[in-house]
Formats: sequence, C-alpha cells, structure tokens
Amino acid sequence: MGTTTLPGETLTDRLRAQGVRITPQRALIAKLLENARDHLDAESVYHMARRSDHRIHRATVYRTLATLKKLHLIDELDLMHVEGERHFYEVRPSTLHIHLVCLTCGSVQEPEGRFWESMKGKVFRETGFKPEIIRLEMGGRCSTCRSGKVRKGKNKIY
Ligand SMILES: [Zn+2]
Ligand SMILES: [Zn+2]
Repeated sequence: MGTTTLPGETLTDRLRAQGVRITPQRALIAKLLENARDHLDAESVYHMARRSDHRIHRATVYRTLATLKKLHLIDELDLMHVEGERHFYEVRPSTLHIHLVCLTCGSVQEPEGRFWESMKGKVFRETGFKPEIIRLEMGGRCSTCRSGKVRKGKNKIY
C-alpha cells in the first residue's frame, strides 16, 4: 500500500516497478485507463482495447484489471449502483477527488480540492483513525435535474 506517484510516471511504469511483466496488451489496457475521460467498466475497456488490438481476449482485460486493483494502482467504484452491478475503474489519482453521482440522470461530477483533503485531518482529529485512501461517493441530484429542465433520466432508482 502507499503507492507513491512520481511526476511523469505512467501506469505502465508503475506496473513494471511492481515487477509485472509488461506485454503490449497490458500496456494498451494501462494506457486506455490512463487516458480515459470517464470511469470505464471492464466491458468498455475490453471494447476500446479491441479497437486497437482485435486479438485481445476479454480474460486478459479482466485479469489485468484485477492485477492493477490488487496492486492498488486503480480504484474500483460502484458509483452508487446507478448503472446496476457494473463496476468502474480509474487510475488512483494523486489528488483527492470525490464522486457526486446524480441518482436521476446518472451523471458523475468529480470535484477535487482542499476541502476534501482537509476531511482527512478532521477524521483523524475526531476519531484517531488516520485515513490514507479515500474513495468517496455521494448520491444526490445534480443541478440540472433539480432545476427540472431536463427529463431524460435513464434509470431513475429513487
Ligand atoms: Zn442529474
Ligand atoms: Zn473519479
């Protein structure tokens, strides 16, 4: 635990540093995750990977994700289950951000900043527990849904 990120270090570098043999397919998966704008689930990673390498197997994708997760290089999120049982992955960020998941439209916002960092100190002061990893999700309603302008909720769950 306590993976430290050096500036300019890629996910592939970090995998290699952990003694994982870097195959072209593993490097491809790592790159996809690193460049992803959204939180991707395993199937999306698989389909994106297939666009670059049509020989890639689904099992390779799932195994690589499991390895990355085990080495604490990526985080697995359920995003309040707005997408059912799908799990999403993201490269563990160097700055803390949280996930604000809209329970109406499923959008995910990721504010980051000092406020969330200061939470670590607050938790420590109040409980004596020293947080190292924070993976925080909040479910609620985004400003668009609250304004009632858009009504295209894909799967309302509440
Ligand atoms: Zn919304
Ligand atoms: Zn995120």
